Amino acid sequence: MENVKNVFLTILRDKYTTRPAFRNAARTLSQILAQEAMAHIATESVAIETPMEKTTGIKLQPSITLIPILRSGITMVEPFLDYFTDAKIGVVGLKRDEKTAQAHLYYNNIPLIDKNTKIIILDPMIATGGTGIETLKILKEKGIQEKDIIFASIICSKDGIQKVQSQFPNITIITAAVDETLNQKKFIVPGLGDFGDRYFGTE
Ligand code: URA
Repeated sequence: MENVKNVFLTILRDKYTTRPAFRNAARTLSQILAQEAMAHIATESVAIETPMEKTTGIKLQPSITLIPILRSGITMVEPFLDYFTDAKIGVVGLKRDEKTAQAHLYYNNIPLIDKNTKIIILDPMIATGGTGIETLKILKEKGIQEKDIIFASIICSKDGIQKVQSQFPNITIITAAVDETLNQKKFIVPGLGDFGDRYFGTE
């Protein structure tokens, strides 16, 4: 799987990649992360009937709520719904101030979450970790336990992932790459530039 990830990461990172190819690589990587996330979720056996006979299969045991962080997190929703077809979707709007790199909450609409729910936070880039940490605080205030939270991100910075893990040591982080540094503007290096601008065409 590492080779597959690296082929599509290379397309995402390349500044000459066209928008359609960028979107396609982002979708493919999100699907790979969705598969990896599924491996962390408990299953239970179900009795089914094929056209031939009765047999048993498996299904996911908990219900799933996807929490995309606006704006870029919404690009991961469809690929995750390919795997978690019945998931509820809660949306958190957090925008990074370009000067201070501080995250500001401007939208928060999360469905009721019970004890049998697994949360999957979606944000393609964990840079400083600020937006992720704010989202995790919102979830903790709702009484959600860290063991029930998966954070899926295409590229993380070493610093960002460490900050998130130091405050929330028991969540599961799933990523395709951990990059070495952040630049002065808190962009991930080597990274891929501004994910949202490249995906949505707002460069
Ligand atoms: N968000 C992005 O889109 N890119 C970065 O490098 C960091 C945050």
